[in-house]
Amino acid sequence: MSDEHAPDAESATPTAGRMLAPGGDNSIAVAVGLLGDEWNLWILRHSFEGAKRYSDWMRAGAISHAVLSSRLAALTDAGVFDRLCYQEKPPRYEYRRTTCGQELWSILLSVWSWELQWAPDRGVLPLMRHATCDRHFAPRLECVACGHPAGARDVVAEMGPSGDWSRCVPAASSRRRSSGAARPPRVLPQTMELLGNRWSASMLGAAFFGARRYSDFAERMQASPTIVADRLRTFTELGVLRESPSTERVDRVTYHLTEKGRAFFPVVVSMIAWGKRWFPSPEGSAITFAHTTCGDEFSPRFACSECGQVLEPRTVLVEARAADVHRPGLPSTF
Ligand SMILES: [Zn+2]
Ligand SMILES: [Zn+2]
Repeated sequence: MSDEHAPDAESATPTAGRMLAPGGDNSIAVAVGLLGDEWNLWILRHSFEGAKRYSDWMRAGAISHAVLSSRLAALTDAGVFDRLCYQEKPPRYEYRRTTCGQELWSILLSVWSWELQWAPDRGVLPLMRHATCDRHFAPRLECVACGHPAGARDVVAEMGPSGDWSRCVPAASSRRRSSGAARPPRVLPQTMELLGNRWSASMLGAAFFGARRYSDFAERMQASPTIVADRLRTFTELGVLRESPSTERVDRVTYHLTEKGRAFFPVVVSMIAWGKRWFPSPEGSAITFAHTTCGDEFSPRFACSECGQVLEPRTVLVEARAADVHRPGLPSTF
């Protein structure tokens, strides 16, 4: 079995991103739906490391045919990949990143960087070398408008016309959760705790954009008290939130992002910016950001921690580690 799962799609017109339906999921829900899936991130990571054909991914790890087929179809539907027929009989396809897919490079970079710093034993993640200065580096979030560093403390958000909280969480039915025997490789375990569940992603967004008390989270998430309490406990155990107990009343406990939690902000803001660019809603944007340092609208970019130069995909060398590659020893750029 190969990629015969979609015999009707040989004439598929490649699109990059798409306009969303009015009143439905907004750009944040779409971005979280696509990127809060560990197999999708795994497939994208191998795409950036050179995988193009179905067999490239099958060789890269223990992914099942069912999971790979469904994820490639979903990523192609979303306009992240173009599907090009390279052989007629039997039909075989290559999956190439569209511009929309290519722009995910900085999100993957920020996910890897956060996991490398904050999650222990991440030996299977690729190393990133900056060709400009020839050093291993971490990406640093900056503001495009002023060029200064940016972070959770100096970027403020305002909800736009399509920004209702209810439209920010991907519908449960649209999520392609892993099931059965094929489990994701668990190379991004903590990222998935934060993004890989509709309530978690919503909770994280609420924490970044002002929720402090249990009631703030419950109101924004529109979830059952059990779910809210469970997620608050999970995030506290992960060290992403910390509790500040009150001596007065139990319900006055407040929750605050830790340094580890704030360090995830570049992932969140770059995901939202990507979604906004490629999956617009007809009513207008879900969210707008402002950089308090300069007062302008905030757009993210990343710079090299070692030399300060703005990162470009072609200057980032991804050095796949020998134990986890299909093309060992061949570093590729984004
Ligand atoms: Zn700025
Ligand atoms: Zn550098």
